[in-house]
Amino acid sequence: MGIKIDALKCTACMACEMACGYHRDDAFALLSSCIVVYRGREKKNYFGVMLKEEENLVIARPEGLEIQRIGAVEEAEQGEEKAESDASAKPMLLREACDLCSDLEGGPMCIKFCPVDAIFVD
Ligand code: SF4
Ligand code: SF4
Repeated sequence: MGIKIDALKCTACMACEMACGYHRDDAFALLSSCIVVYRGREKKNYFGVMLKEEENLVIARPEGLEIQRIGAVEEAEQGEEKAESDASAKPMLLREACDLCSDLEGGPMCIKFCPVDAIFVD
């Protein structure tokens, strides 16, 4: 069971990012969020959503889902090889993984605040 994102519904409003940061720090601290809007450099108006899980970095893009193992991303960051998507993956490595807001009675904050129901648990 984990957070799933439908990137085709996402409007890049960043409400999930703010909600997650608030859950982490009791303030709107975007740097603490484990879910972030991913903006591609290669295309204009192109975006998806990136989620850090315990073992994986999940990148939900309009054309599909990419799942990268955290260990592999770390290795790539240390080496010469860098995929375009890894450019914004680095800051994610330092963040806490999604805990499904397990300490909150109401459940995942990102789901509650997404205005287009692009996030769900499966
Ligand atoms: S479920 Fe909670 S911890 Fe996980 S991404 Fe959503 S707001 Fe962040
Ligand atoms: S809250 Fe929903 S629409 Fe807004 S950025 Fe997050 S996934 Fe996309």
